[in-house]
Amino acid sequence: MDKPVIGVLPGTNGDGSGFFMVPAYARSIEASGGIPVMLPLTADEAVLRQLAALCAGFLLPGGQDISPMVYDEPVSEGCGPCCAELDRMELLLLRELLDRDKPVFGICRGLQFLNAALGGTLYQDLPSERPAGISHRQTQSADAPCHSVMLAEGSPLQALLRADTISVNSFHHQAVKTLAPPLSVAALSEDRLVEAVWMPSKRFVRAVQWHPELSFMTDENSRRLFADFVAACCI
Ligand code: MN
Repeated sequence: MDKPVIGVLPGTNGDGSGFFMVPAYARSIEASGGIPVMLPLTADEAVLRQLAALCAGFLLPGGQDISPMVYDEPVSEGCGPCCAELDRMELLLLRELLDRDKPVFGICRGLQFLNAALGGTLYQDLPSERPAGISHRQTQSADAPCHSVMLAEGSPLQALLRADTISVNSFHHQAVKTLAPPLSVAALSEDRLVEAVWMPSKRFVRAVQWHPELSFMTDENSRRLFADFVAACCI
């Protein structure tokens, strides 16, 4: 059987002059039996419709902050640089993917984007807006665990990892403030921030706030997340 081709949304740099794929995403998908392909940065609807049909699944990777315009809020002082074209691309593509019930796996910004696109809101600058919380931007090596998360009873994540609590890395500046109605919480951090979500009405729309691609080599749970996603892309 052919391996599933998985479209990876592009990463963008500060001024939008370049886009790229972080190698850890490509390597984690390849090691899990998929073929990663970086999508071009485009908001052309006809192109996005064709790409939606072309790939078996889609990875929404980490990246820059999401424009608060996506969830109809004014930009706060602490919001970081955004890429309007990527936000637009993801909004248009996500609509196609949900229509086709294609597997979607979001990581970090990918989780935040799903939430914003589906009617939720975000903390634009987590440290200043939620100062009592733990640090969600670790300084230790990228594959080292930073904080724990509690897996939600009855969530696919709990069924997959067969645990109540796991340790994860953390590199996020924004986070879910109010949850989008179509999403359910799959994991909460020790300071009760949303760290994983899933969409019960779809076959496989799931996201994590941590970075399993950076702990893929050292953490069995990270490998299981990718294996589960690639398996969903094979159906
Ligand atoms: Mn975190």
